Formats: sequence, C-alpha cells, structure tokens
Amino acid sequence: MGFNESVLICDEVNPILNKILEENGLKIEYNPEITPEQIQEKIDKFNIVIVRIRTKITKEMIEKAKNCKIIARVGVGLDNIDLDAAKAKNIRVINAVEGAMTAVAEQVLGLMLSLARNIARADREIRNGNWLKKELMGTELKGKYLGIVGLGNIGKRLGRLAKGLNMNIIGYDVIPIDEEFAKDVGLMKADLDTLLQSSDYVSLHVPLLDSTYHMIDAKKLAIMKSTAKIINTSRGGVIDEEALYDAIKNGNLGGAALDVFEKEPATDSPLTTLPNVILTPHIGAQTKEAQSLAANVIAEKIIQILRGVI
Ligand code: NAD
Repeated sequence: MGFNESVLICDEVNPILNKILEENGLKIEYNPEITPEQIQEKIDKFNIVIVRIRTKITKEMIEKAKNCKIIARVGVGLDNIDLDAAKAKNIRVINAVEGAMTAVAEQVLGLMLSLARNIARADREIRNGNWLKKELMGTELKGKYLGIVGLGNIGKRLGRLAKGLNMNIIGYDVIPIDEEFAKDVGLMKADLDTLLQSSDYVSLHVPLLDSTYHMIDAKKLAIMKSTAKIINTSRGGVIDEEALYDAIKNGNLGGAALDVFEKEPATDSPLTTLPNVILTPHIGAQTKEAQSLAANVIAEKIIQILRGVI
C-alpha cells in the first residue's frame, strides 16, 4: 500500500530515510538548510516533519502545523522539540533511541583514553613544534573508578565497554538500574554525591530536563577529586560550563571532555583556552552506522504509524 503524505526534512539525514519513504509513496521536500522563518511559513503544508538536532521545532511552528501528524527526530534527545505543544495538538513525536548507543559509548571511551594519555594535547604540541614527554605523563584506565550518571541505553553500553578495560563502575540513576547489567559489570550503585566524590572519571548520560539543567554545578564540581575528569556527551546545559571552567582553571578538577555545549557551535567557549580540556563538535552519534540505523528506525516507525500498527 502506498501513502501520499507530504514530508518536510529539515536537517541532513542519511539518504536511506528518503529512499524508504519515497518507495512507500510519500512526497518529500528535502531542505537540510531550511531556516526557522521558512519552516514557520510552510509547515502547515506538511503531514510529517523530520529533524535531527540543528532544527528546533517551537511552539509557534507547531501552532501553525495544521496538517502535521508526526514529528520525527532522527536521533535520541527530544529537547529540540516542544513536546507539550505537540501533545496539545495530538501530534506523535518519535525518535530513534537505538541508533546512537554504540557510537556515543565508543566516543566516550575515546575521550577518556585521550584524557588519560593526553593524546589530543600531544598532537597539538607536536604541530606547534613542541616534543613534550615528561609534561605528558599519563595514567592508565585499568583499575580506575568510572562514575556513570544515567544508566539508560548509552550509560549501560559504556559500562560494558569500560568493564572490558578493567575499570570499576559506579552508577547513579533516578530509576532502578537494570539488575542484570549491574551484575554483569559489578556495578556499585551510589547516590550522586558519593559517585562524584569517588570517581576518577565521571560520564554524564542523562536527558536535558528542568531537573537535570546544571545538575553538575560549582557545588558538585567542588566535591570531586582534584585529579578527576568529567566527560559530557549528553546535552549541554547538564553542566554549568562557567563553573567547569573555573574548577579546571583553579586546579580543582583534572580535566574535561565535552561533545555538547549549552550554546552550539561553541568555538568561542573559554574552555578552548584550557590545555586539559578536549572539545568535539557534537559528534557523539556521528558514525555511518548510527546514522544509517537511526534513519532506518525512523522510516520504519513512520510507515508503521501510517499503517496504524503502532
Ligand atoms: P536514555 O533515556 O536511554 O537514558 C537516560 C537515563 O538518564 C535514564 O535511565 C534516566 O532515568 C536517567 N536520568 C534522568 N534524569 C536523571 C537524573 N536527574 N539523574 C540521574 N539519571 C537520570 O537515554 P540515552 O539514549 O542513554 O541518551 C542519554 C543522553 O545522551 C541524552 O541526553 C541524549 O540526548 C544524549 N545523546 C547525545 C548524543 C550526541 O551526539 N552526543 C547522541 C545521542 C544521545
């Protein structure tokens, strides 16, 4: 059965998504550089709107989206979509939680290794003509304590990978932690303060909500070990970046690796001036495998919703 719904794709997505939807008869406008003003102008013409992270779907847009049945996010976090406004208009909001799990967990592993062995800094120094050795004394991950905040899909995947490196895993979540996972990795459950006090590395994997906004602030950073390092691949806004800058600058924290920022792009962040900080441009899920999986999942979900299966 073919469909004739119209689809607006607002960000760059894996072409497999367009292909599957077109094969099912949907009419696609692919406009990966569309501006908010243009969306506002034309959103009423579409039945389905698809975004990644660049595009924000605001209350004002949703109020104009008279014919919209589905808003799809090719990715995990839904903080770029006004969920209350969509709910009020009976619009289904879907995402692809499965896509990013391995990609983000592996990115954290890379960042953690890079922090431990000064890899990013060593590369920068050589390019600047500096052959540093004693200044770049590293530490090993084996035997170190990794605190994972938020043990959903990505947090658990990271736990399993880190266990493979013989790290000790401490975990904190607001909901009960999967018992089988906890047993497999020998997870030590803790409250947030105990986790922060005990960890050599802390990795954040919570959604951005009112309750998680700046959950790592100056007070929380102050209870961490001065040698500890924090990694954020979840959402900017979960860490207070000004407080993080002060903690590292003043020697109260060993370093940080951030893939996400409260304001993106973050090319002018003061954190760029600190040598023991690694910054990546929100590429946690930017792998061929993750993008292809997310596109397939979203295409499949859209078709199933149109068929009335889910
Ligand atoms: P998930 O929903 O599977 O897991 C999130 C976990 O956080 C849940 O177990 C939840 O109970 C827990 N949580 C919520 N509030 C908490 C709090 N206050 N304290 C402790 N735990 C709390 O989500 P996921 O798929 O694992 O994704 C985690 C984060 O990664 C999200 O913010 C998502 O947007 C982000 N993400 C980033 C990228 C990237 O490119 N860097 C890619 C994908 C996902």
